[in-house]
Amino acid sequence: MASTVPELKPSSRLLLGPGPSMVHPRVLRAMSTPLLGHLDPEFLVIMNEVQGMLRTVFQTENPFTIAISGTGSAGMEAALVNVVEPGDKVIVCVAGVFGARLAEIVGRCGGQLVKLEVPWGQVFTLDRIEEALRKEGRVRAVAIVHAETSTGAQQPLDGLGKLCRDHGALLVVDAVTSLGGVPVEVDRNGIDVCYSGTQKCLSCPPGLAPLTFSPRALELVRARKHKVQSWYLDVSMIADYWADGKRAYHHTAPISMVYALRESLRLVLEEGLEPRFARHRRHSAAVMAGLAELGCTPNAAEGHRLPSLNCVRTPEGVNDEAPIRKALLADHGIEIGGGLGPLVGKIWRIGLMGESSRQEHVLAVLAALEQALARTGRAVAPGAAVSAALKTYAR
Ligand SMILES: *Cc1c(COP(=O)(O)O)cnc(C)c1O
Repeated sequence: MASTVPELKPSSRLLLGPGPSMVHPRVLRAMSTPLLGHLDPEFLVIMNEVQGMLRTVFQTENPFTIAISGTGSAGMEAALVNVVEPGDKVIVCVAGVFGARLAEIVGRCGGQLVKLEVPWGQVFTLDRIEEALRKEGRVRAVAIVHAETSTGAQQPLDGLGKLCRDHGALLVVDAVTSLGGVPVEVDRNGIDVCYSGTQKCLSCPPGLAPLTFSPRALELVRARKHKVQSWYLDVSMIADYWADGKRAYHHTAPISMVYALRESLRLVLEEGLEPRFARHRRHSAAVMAGLAELGCTPNAAEGHRLPSLNCVRTPEGVNDEAPIRKALLADHGIEIGGGLGPLVGKIWRIGLMGESSRQEHVLAVLAALEQALARTGRAVAPGAAVSAALKTYAR
């Protein structure tokens, strides 16, 4: 009997939102490779290769560097459920949606939450965090978002690792929208626990969360008084699964996703980290120049703007931005993001992450925005935004 559900044929899309980002055909091909068993000796070699490449991308020597089965939020949860025991004091820096999610999870772990806040779009100074560490006494961890996807701000990490270490606290960093697009430098920055997601700057479909723990962090986890409340995300068991020579069954690795991540990491390393970071900066500068022509102003504080996620205030006089985003999708097949929380209706978020960060994509989204804005009756000089971007490229 023929199925009444038609064959899957999604429209072609240019993904320039806050994730997922565009995926290279090589990664899609890797996903259709026949499966191996997850304890097959050949698959164990593949896991080792993925771990090695993840260390290079995280810029760390940490032996415990793996991919958690689940999206970026699973990485976030794995970081916190292992580090935080009931009653532990944890300082969480909140400057947007993802900082707030960290705070929410600390509460669910039974941690004693100390929430630091700055207005959305701003970043934290070292002094502010130091003051909190001085005041609070014994603190288990400081958790902070490196690239706040809801605002487009990039939190500086210089000196933070040392500060935390001096106060006996672990540094937990969310690098979901930075890893593979912006330097994270886990070892140089003294980060103890760092996690990311596959679908942002690594340009792989969503489904895995790269995660690394410093030896110091892992020691603390192993010395816990209480069992980790999550069986699935207990890193001491997951460590035994990923440990070369051990491979104790814990859960079945999502084989096809591991293939995909392996191929996307190969692409990152073929390009090289520094050229890749430079590419993200170049296309960000071009799109921001074009957006300025359209009357959009940057949302994040000067000097702290993320090249992987370009957030701008919508142009003065645009009271309802949603129809413009809808037109981009319907007429041009282009996805961009709107605002979250207090920024709903106020900003656009244009992700130029991994494969999405290309000149042809920058020009396409600017031309589409020009047209969509002109249709609303605004005086938009045709080609002005595109030509501002081209000027940036010519420099
Ligand atoms: C996207 C994102 C997450 C969550 O990742 P999911 O893959 O959506 O679960 C966490 N933190 C930041 C900063 C993000 O941008």
